[in-house]
Amino acid sequence: MAGRLTGKKALVTAAAQGIGEATARAFAAEGAEVVATDINEERLRGLEGVPGLTTRRLDVTRTDEVAAAAKEVGVVQVLFNCAGFVHQGSILECEEGDWDFSMDLNVKGMYRVIRAFLPAMLEAGGGSIVNMSSIASALRGVPGRFAYTTSKAAVLGLTKAVAADFVGRGIRCNAICPGTVDSPSLQERIGAAEDAEAARKAFIARQPMGRLGRPEEIAALVVYLASDESAFVSGTAVSIDGGWSI
Ligand code: NAD
Repeated sequence: MAGRLTGKKALVTAAAQGIGEATARAFAAEGAEVVATDINEERLRGLEGVPGLTTRRLDVTRTDEVAAAAKEVGVVQVLFNCAGFVHQGSILECEEGDWDFSMDLNVKGMYRVIRAFLPAMLEAGGGSIVNMSSIASALRGVPGRFAYTTSKAAVLGLTKAVAADFVGRGIRCNAICPGTVDSPSLQERIGAAEDAEAARKAFIARQPMGRLGRPEEIAALVVYLASDESAFVSGTAVSIDGGWSI
C-alpha cells in the first residue's frame, strides 16, 4: 500500500537522535526515500537498515558540506531542517561566541540548506520545506533561553520569507513550534541541573497536559506538513506543545 510520502525524496538534518530521528523513521515508514543526515555519524548508524533510508554526514554549519550534499543528493521534494542547539542563560550569560554559534547553527544552517537545495526543488516543480522552531520563539519568552529564543524567532521570519517568495512556484515552507519534547538533549539538560528531579518536574509543568511530548508525536506533524495532505498550507507556524501556548 502506498504511504503518504511514496514517490518523494526527503532530506532530514539532525536525524541521529530525538525529533530528527523519529521523523526520518516516520518519513521512511510513509514510503519516502530518506536521506538522514547529522554530524554524529556513530549515532546515525543506528538508522542503517531502515528500508528506504540512507545516512550521510552533514554539518549544517559548513557551507562546503551543504553544497556537496545538495550536489550528491540532487532533487528532493521534502526538506526537514531540524538541526538546532539550546544555549542556556539570559543575555548576561550570552557571550558573543554563544550568540554567534546559536545563530549560525539554528538560523544560518537553514539558510545554507534551503539555498543549496531550493534551485533543484524549483526546477523539479516544487516541494515542502519544514523548519524547526519552538514555542520559545516569537510565541513565548522563556526565562534563561535568550539566544535560543532569538534564533527560533528568526526561524519563523525565515520561514515566512521563503514561503512568500516561492508560494507561486510550488514551494511550501512551514515552521513547527514544539513545547518540551523528551529527547536525548533534554535528558542531558535535566541531568546537568543541580536538582535533576526538580528540573524534570519544571520541564513537565510547562505543558498544561502534564507531560513531555514524544518525538514520534512531533514526527507525525512533520509527516503531515511534508505530505500532499497539507497542500493548502504554507507560511504557518504550527504549535505542538501540550497546551503551553493556550
Ligand atoms: P537533540 O537536541 O537531542 O539532538 C540534536 C541533534 O542535532 C543531534 O543528533 C546532533 O548531533 C545534531 N547536530 C548538532 N549540531 C549539528 C550540525 N551542526 N549539523 C547537523 N546536525 C547537528 O534533538 P531534539 O531535542 O529532538 O531537538 C531537535 C530540534 O528540535 C532542535 O532544533 C531543537 O531546538 C528543536 N526543539 C526541541 C525541543 C525539545 O524539547 N526537545 C523543543 C522545541 C524544539
